[in-house]
Amino acid sequence: MHAWINRSIKEHQAAFAAGEYTSRELTSAFLKRIEEKEPSVGAYLTVDAEGALREADASDARRRLGVPLGPLDGIPYALKDTFCTVGLRTTCASRMLEHYVPPYDAEAVSRLRRAGAVLLGKLNLDEFAMGSSTEHSALGNTRNPYNSDCVAGGSSGGSAAAVAAGECVFSLGTDTGGSIRQPAAFCGVMGLKPTYGAISRYGVIALASSLDCVGILSRCAEDGEIVLSVLAGKDEKDATSRAYLPSSIPSRPLRVALVADFLRDGMIAEEIRALLLESAERFRKKGAQVGEISLPSPMRALAAYSVLTAAEAASELGRYDGIRYGFAGAGEDLENRYVSSRGESFGREVKRRILFGTYVMTGSRREEIYNQARRVRGDVKASMEKILTEYDLILAPATPTVAFAAGAQRSPAEMYCSDLCTVCGSLAGLPSLSVPMGKNMEGLPMAVQLTAAPFSESLLYHATALLEVSHESSGI
Ligand code: GLN
Repeated sequence: MHAWINRSIKEHQAAFAAGEYTSRELTSAFLKRIEEKEPSVGAYLTVDAEGALREADASDARRRLGVPLGPLDGIPYALKDTFCTVGLRTTCASRMLEHYVPPYDAEAVSRLRRAGAVLLGKLNLDEFAMGSSTEHSALGNTRNPYNSDCVAGGSSGGSAAAVAAGECVFSLGTDTGGSIRQPAAFCGVMGLKPTYGAISRYGVIALASSLDCVGILSRCAEDGEIVLSVLAGKDEKDATSRAYLPSSIPSRPLRVALVADFLRDGMIAEEIRALLLESAERFRKKGAQVGEISLPSPMRALAAYSVLTAAEAASELGRYDGIRYGFAGAGEDLENRYVSSRGESFGREVKRRILFGTYVMTGSRREEIYNQARRVRGDVKASMEKILTEYDLILAPATPTVAFAAGAQRSPAEMYCSDLCTVCGSLAGLPSLSVPMGKNMEGLPMAVQLTAAPFSESLLYHATALLEVSHESSGI
């Protein structure tokens, strides 16, 4: 393996500036790494070697000519295949969009291009971001870089596996209920779900718009912060995006709230419980005050999340009708055309959620189920906001277990439980970071999760230093 690929963004930039290597040389090293690792990892759905080398050459030319450089100039990265990329197919890991080539870039992609970053390709996911293992992809099989018998997590499994396996410097993912934080935890990298609205969702294929966030998977905190500074901010094309007003890091000792619900017997695996307690201890040793708090039942939050995302997904996915774009089935009339287009191209999990979402929105069930879920969401939000008036950080596990075996026949309900630790932050729209904390006895990564008040992403990244997370701890 080429030693360059483990370096941070700042280290690459220093190497470019010193003439140690060019962006073309670095990009070529990553393309070679992708070739070596893909047979066992399978993170990429599309590798755009030609496009990447073209962008790398343009970056090298800017440097030679003394043109002002962007904050990510020459840095190779990759995207979850939910981000529209002009001229490059964007599949959402679905047969429905298998051949879809967007005529425009997502806003996040435009911002990365303007910052000079080099796009290597598009990464695998659970179809339409529905899942927790990337096994629901219709187009590929992604495995955990630490153990190819295990899943990479999901739905941003390709994004996490690619960073962990050294197949890109950083990647973007999306997180609706945990889809960045959970795979980041399974693959031992940093995964940030920012404050809802901090990064534009324009051009990002939706799962549930009131919860979807664009976020960042990186090897270290510093890289994550640099990428966030490029992406965050108001975008007129996304009405839910907001001006980014970062809050400052307190200069007094931090107050950390440990979520006691997860310490109860049987809630999470024993090794993760031990890690959580050890993390609290590390905070204490660094002078933080640690107290225990309780959330409104995480199981209720999970149920509410399932109802709300299914309801929104059923409506978001209504646009795939086989007429405007995407897979077009045969049919002698409109009705049959809809049925064949959607019936033949959506996978089981997508269909399950469309049916469930339609069910909870119909007739009296709207009041009984959907509105009840909205009330639970309100309770979760209010209680987390209250906790954050007394504490700076909420400390919780990122996942209930380490990466599970690929191909294990998990029921949909069991699969949904993977989000137990992450959905509360999503329902409340708060920034939340999955922090890799070393490996278990079998060599699989384990992680904790930090959540803070809106626009406190810097605090989250800063706090990783108190947990003594080193740059070397991320990636293989
Ligand atoms: N695993 C969750 C789900 O299947 C998370 C999805 C997501 O965050 N995109 O709903």
